[in-house]
Amino acid sequence: MKSNEIYLDNNATTPVLPMAAKAAFDAMELNYGNPSSAHITGIKAKYVMENARQEARKILGAQDGEVIFVSGATEGIQTAIISSLWGAKQAGLDTQNYKLLYGATEHKAIPETLKHWNELLQINAEVVAIPVDSKGTLDLDFIAEHAEQSLIICTMAANNETGVYQDLQAIEKTIRSRNTQVKWLVDCVQALGKLSLNLSETTIDYAPFSGHKLYAPKGIGMLYIRQGAPYTPFIAGGGQESGLRSGTENLPSIAALGKILEALNDDESNVFRSHSELSDFREQIASALKEAFPGVVFNNDFANSVPTTINFAVKSLASKEILDLFDAANIRVSSGSACSSKATASFVLDAMGLPLWQSEGAVRLSFGPAATQQEITDACNAIKQAAAAIHGSCLLNSDLELDEKGQLDGLIQMHFDGACTWVLADKHARECVIVDPVEELAERVHNLVRCRDYKVKAIIDTHSHADHETCAHMLRTVMQKCIVQGEHDNLGWPQDNVAVTLRAESTEALRIGRYQLNLLKTPGHTTDSISILVSDVRDNLSPEHIQFAFVGDTILIGGLGRSDFGISSVTDFYHSLSKLNEMILPDTVLCSAHDYNLQFTTTMAAEVETNCLLRSVINNEISEQEFAKRKVEVDGGLEDQTSTTLMCGSLVRADVSEENINVEPEQACDYMQSHKDAIILDVREAHEHRLNALKDFTNVENVPLTRFTGFIPKLLAEQDKDQEVICICRSGSRSVVAAKTLRRLGFKNACQIHGGFALYSE
Ligand code: PLP
Repeated sequence: MKSNEIYLDNNATTPVLPMAAKAAFDAMELNYGNPSSAHITGIKAKYVMENARQEARKILGAQDGEVIFVSGATEGIQTAIISSLWGAKQAGLDTQNYKLLYGATEHKAIPETLKHWNELLQINAEVVAIPVDSKGTLDLDFIAEHAEQSLIICTMAANNETGVYQDLQAIEKTIRSRNTQVKWLVDCVQALGKLSLNLSETTIDYAPFSGHKLYAPKGIGMLYIRQGAPYTPFIAGGGQESGLRSGTENLPSIAALGKILEALNDDESNVFRSHSELSDFREQIASALKEAFPGVVFNNDFANSVPTTINFAVKSLASKEILDLFDAANIRVSSGSACSSKATASFVLDAMGLPLWQSEGAVRLSFGPAATQQEITDACNAIKQAAAAIHGSCLLNSDLELDEKGQLDGLIQMHFDGACTWVLADKHARECVIVDPVEELAERVHNLVRCRDYKVKAIIDTHSHADHETCAHMLRTVMQKCIVQGEHDNLGWPQDNVAVTLRAESTEALRIGRYQLNLLKTPGHTTDSISILVSDVRDNLSPEHIQFAFVGDTILIGGLGRSDFGISSVTDFYHSLSKLNEMILPDTVLCSAHDYNLQFTTTMAAEVETNCLLRSVINNEISEQEFAKRKVEVDGGLEDQTSTTLMCGSLVRADVSEENINVEPEQACDYMQSHKDAIILDVREAHEHRLNALKDFTNVENVPLTRFTGFIPKLLAEQDKDQEVICICRSGSRSVVAAKTLRRLGFKNACQIHGGFALYSE
């Protein structure tokens, strides 16, 4: 393990212990024989393998039955499920009238394997999940009800996300009192080394194990098969493993696993901690978490979980945010949900009926049974240190991250499922305006403003919505105390404003500290659509004064807003595009109400490059009638794009050249050192940046993605497009979108550090 790394993701995989690595190395260098060979080198290899098997039998309490070496638990699960299903077929059972039961919180390897072979072997049984209660315990009544008509029942000894263990004796009693023949598989992957198992004393038919969850290498596992249980090899061939599993055995890994099992069996060995020591470690980490995040909630009940797993959530933080924060502090944990901008809930916690926020915000922290007190102390300190880095922000919410002086200032972009909500704030005036509010982001916006006691001068929609209610009314009610009261129109544009001229045309403007929001009516998407052109404070404006513009659904990134609603006007759209173009410069940053492909922002220049319909309007190449005809065709193609998200316009993806966009991590340090004039953009959140910054470089700017669009007008104003910009983040996923956005906007020398801080080393 890297010395400064706090690795708390042992349920995903463990490091290989030095003694296991040495055993593997010896098996490669010294005992390299093939266990099937008859000569002495082969005999030595076989001896190592059979010793490992003996240790396995001992720790599993498997005096009889078979213990075979497989590539991992997933292979063990395939073998067990095929064996039982094929066995049922061979026994002449009318399988389609039976059920295949599995616990609702099983690892995906179980239900997916059941479904796969149920279909392929034409078993056609019903695959049914056994419900669990709020503590994750299987519903025994449900098992009792269905056991008689089941071919196989799959349960797990300990859960990989929560550590929740099951009462195997109670399950056995329930099953066997109803059905002595049904096959029972118990996934023991997360139990080995943490719970004692006496397999031969049970009626468990199959039990898969995995080496890499217990300090052995990846690619090795074991399967226990009860004496007399149906068996069909999953892998046929040279007849290794007594014909039960062909293929030359993975001797280095078997040797390593054998060494671990030997230590587990040895009461004198001090490699593994006792249950009470591990429980004490869990208490220490739990109290560190409580101190670090006062609102922390534990998703697993410690009373029925193995002590090495803690699953928690913090209400105001998404799991991805905790993951990013911890990663920056060199703490490795994992989330129950996938890393997408749209949070994905954990099916395990959903099955337990936990509230959605707990499931979506779930973080799994797992240490191994060989953890030491020093490692746990270091982990507790690192957790507290990581949390301290975000305590300056409001409600521990990274979207709400303020600048280094705790101020909220400039343009902030928030995303939810392809929609954008914008906040424009001035720190001196302590005022802000909210544009295009989205319901799902309302709470974040509210917290952002309330936390620093800013006044909201207006909540503005750039258009009324043809197909849904705006959430602006709701936001005005909940934010009552922060809002500057006054009359406004149906879009929220205040009546109390100042008269200004925009290219000699008179219009209205709203002032927020140093910003002036100038109204430009741009009907088309809806008849009331507006754009808001943002400048500094002045009475007479020309295009060069416009810093950026909120353009709602008029211009999307890679397309135009749709104009096929009852309240749309295609001909107005045509004129609005020309008018908007006259009022801004080609490089004025455009802030749309949508960002379907995480591209942040655009400019008229970038759009004209890829959108021929827009180009022909801007260049006066087509008539209003021709535009209307083509726009109807474009909108007609929208249905194809509506599969998952409501699309408010038809999009074309711009092709960004990715040539030389990656700086490889090994070269990154030299590259940055030799490109002294480059701007290095750390696009992680401010608290991640604080925890590990690029201290050796002076040309680093921290621009979190919520601030990225707001940063671009400054970049465009101060730099020419040859400027080299090097983007970096945690793993490369944020920096690559940042670099691509910059390239799309013309910064052809924008690049990213491939793999981010994860792979970079100084
Ligand atoms: N079962 C459980 C409970 C697990 O945690 C895992 C691994 O995450 C597996 C099965 C699959 O194990 P393997 O990676 O060895 O195939």
